[in-house]
Amino acid sequence: MNKNSSNIMALAPNTSNKRETVCIFGTGDFGRALGHKLIQSGYPVVFGSRSTQTSSLIPKDAEVLSHAEAAQKAAIIIIAIQRQHYNFLTPLAEILHGKVLVDISNNLKINQYPESNAEYLAQLVPGAKVVKAFNTVSAWALQSGTLDASRQVFVCGDDMEAKQMVMDIVRALGLSPLDQGSLLAAQEIENYPLQLFPMWKFPILLSLGLIAFFFFYCLIRDVIYPYVYENKDYSFFIAISIANRICPILALILLALVYLPGVLAAIIQLYRGTKYRRFPDWLDKWMLCRKQLGLVALAFASLHVLYTLVIPIRSFVRWRIISQTVSLALNNKTEPLDTTNAWLSDSYLALGILGFFLFVLLGITSLPSVSNNVNWREFRFVQSKLGYLTLVLCTAHTMVYGGKWFLSPSSYRWYLPNAYMLSLIIPCTVLVVKFVLIFPCLDKPLTRIRQGWERNPQYSE
Ligand code: NAP
Repeated sequence: MNKNSSNIMALAPNTSNKRETVCIFGTGDFGRALGHKLIQSGYPVVFGSRSTQTSSLIPKDAEVLSHAEAAQKAAIIIIAIQRQHYNFLTPLAEILHGKVLVDISNNLKINQYPESNAEYLAQLVPGAKVVKAFNTVSAWALQSGTLDASRQVFVCGDDMEAKQMVMDIVRALGLSPLDQGSLLAAQEIENYPLQLFPMWKFPILLSLGLIAFFFFYCLIRDVIYPYVYENKDYSFFIAISIANRICPILALILLALVYLPGVLAAIIQLYRGTKYRRFPDWLDKWMLCRKQLGLVALAFASLHVLYTLVIPIRSFVRWRIISQTVSLALNNKTEPLDTTNAWLSDSYLALGILGFFLFVLLGITSLPSVSNNVNWREFRFVQSKLGYLTLVLCTAHTMVYGGKWFLSPSSYRWYLPNAYMLSLIIPCTVLVVKFVLIFPCLDKPLTRIRQGWERNPQYSE
């Protein structure tokens, strides 16, 4: 009875300015770094360790005691020890009864154990109030003060009061607590630091696959074919010409792939007559990484711009212009200006410039600092309407570039069409389907479905 009342006293809100003592189990890297930061923020810190000898590494204002002695001095105990050693806590269960145990541990692999470390801790010490926190902050960032990238601290736990106490400590350390709900969220919070750019995996793998495909495609058409048939060595095309072919192709295909899942989702919703049925998993995942796909597309478009800027200083280009000029001079000939060609070339450049400008605008508005400052309607206007306009301009840029050779047999080598013709397949499909979807006979039911209307309601009143 006495023990419980002392624990309740310890959990009562602190009305004086004096900070409550915090106990840290484990004097390893994280324990010491956190202890240091807590002392700086005015918290008395006591360490619970297997060895009570202090060392020069341990903050000098902190006490080092045995686990049992240290636990008795504080209402909050931060467990800065790896999960595999948690069983040493079982004999301490009585002392830890009613205390707030903060689990900060991480694993080596995603979903390494069937239950989260925090839930495991709660099973080992059933009388304690377990809160998960701090696992996304690194010891190095705590110690060096470079917390900018990890200022947010995810916190979860079943006991509201215990969670509040931990969030107060997080705030006192100059960090921002983010309440993630009950202890059930712990597994997700533990997986978070183990993820390696999860949303970038698909766009990057897809880009690598497309680069490989188009590289070999262009190599066959632009280097191997002239070598076999004309005995010409164009291998130097690899450095700039082929790269400058692959970049715009990837930019256009990836931009179209940003809008393709939206079009597919619309078709699925129209077919099902409801928005209340989940999309297939692959479509859900695809939709979640649209921003990343768009940013990779923008990176390729920027490279295309850079490669294009160096074209006039390329030795091959200068040689070709000089040879043509000399040949005209030797034959005493001049070529009249072909205004159709001039129109095509200027329109192609203008479409490219405008498309790239809107592309950059889309990229800028996807930055969190910008998107946080526009409302939902403004964001949708930019990402959807301007996004489609960008796709239209970039597709038109490609079509005007090569349109006149589309049906010319000389542009096919070994029956292979020019690579940019392949790049037009997905963008044109997306634009045509989108065009069909804006017809009122499809747009109206789709808008109603997106507002919650169902063709065959599942739950009728
Ligand atoms: P560490 O340097 O290896 O320290 C772990 C501490 O645990 C040891 O110093 C030791 O303290 C104690 N310990 C070791 N074996 C024990 C046993 N059998 N029984 C009881 N105590 C034992 O590890 P760390 O980097 O500080 O990490 C500690 C925890 O914080 C881990 O769960 C880790 O996932 C988590 N974490 C670490 C970081 C980071 O940047 N390092 C970031 C986020 C989360 P005593 O010698 O004092 O007993």
